[in-house]
Amino acid sequence: NKVYLNGNIVDAEEAKISVFDRGFIFGDGLYEVMVQINGSFFYEKEHLERLQYGLQAINIDFNAAFLKKEIPKLLHAAQLTAIDCMLYIQITRGVAPRQHSFPQQCQPTVMMYAIPKVLPVINEINAKVLTRKDFRWSRCDIKMTSLLGNVMLNEEAMQHECYETILHRNGVYTEASHSNVFFVKEDVVYTHKANEHILNGITRIVVIELCNSLGIPLKEEAIAVEEIEHIDEAFLTGTSTQIASIQQIDDKLLYSENEKGPITKKLQEAFLKLK
Ligand code: PLP
Repeated sequence: NKVYLNGNIVDAEEAKISVFDRGFIFGDGLYEVMVQINGSFFYEKEHLERLQYGLQAINIDFNAAFLKKEIPKLLHAAQLTAIDCMLYIQITRGVAPRQHSFPQQCQPTVMMYAIPKVLPVINEINAKVLTRKDFRWSRCDIKMTSLLGNVMLNEEAMQHECYETILHRNGVYTEASHSNVFFVKEDVVYTHKANEHILNGITRIVVIELCNSLGIPLKEEAIAVEEIEHIDEAFLTGTSTQIASIQQIDDKLLYSENEKGPITKKLQEAFLKLK
């Protein structure tokens, strides 16, 4: 496999980064994940714009749009040009002697790789999820590589044989450990507004647009923890998750294994037509 590292494309085994890279030392970096479907990246512009938003937020001087021209070079070298694949991009602040504050002179480390990945037409996972307090920091809008909180919260799901952990903060559901969460209550779709407590998922934005175009009422409003008893449907969104129906939240069974809610189904069917 091939890796893009600071403008060069090398064999994966040859891709070396300094142990003093601030990405390694502090988790001082950002990442993006996007998928190529039928020869083009799904919402590539939006992914690169979100990366630019993060770069500005943490003051790394790099133009994410530059990658638009670099990605095809990597895919060509990796022989993935026309293959459905997942692209991972990581940009860290770079290599510098260890000190917390931003170093004066620092060249960002830019790394990308792609691996073949075929997403299902519709994600047929009917997820069991658990709920946990969101103990992550308060800048979840920055897609940073420091994912320890997300990793720990996701591990809890795995330990309980669940697919995801959905998170609550200040008494309301925010998002999940590696996806966004939507609820349906009395035919209205709810999802937490895009603020510093969630990552504004590209799939989340796509689903909001789909609701608007299908005339499904949608509110960017949080659902309170105690409201969960009155929920009719719930689903997760994410780049590789696409739209995944939720079957069970903790002990609350929403649907049986082979059943999902009508609005979730409608959105899944509309989503596949975008690909
Ligand atoms: N929320 C978190 C915490 C995530 O890690 C992700 C994806 O990695 C998402 C939401 C979904 O974002 P997207 O739809 O852009 O993949």
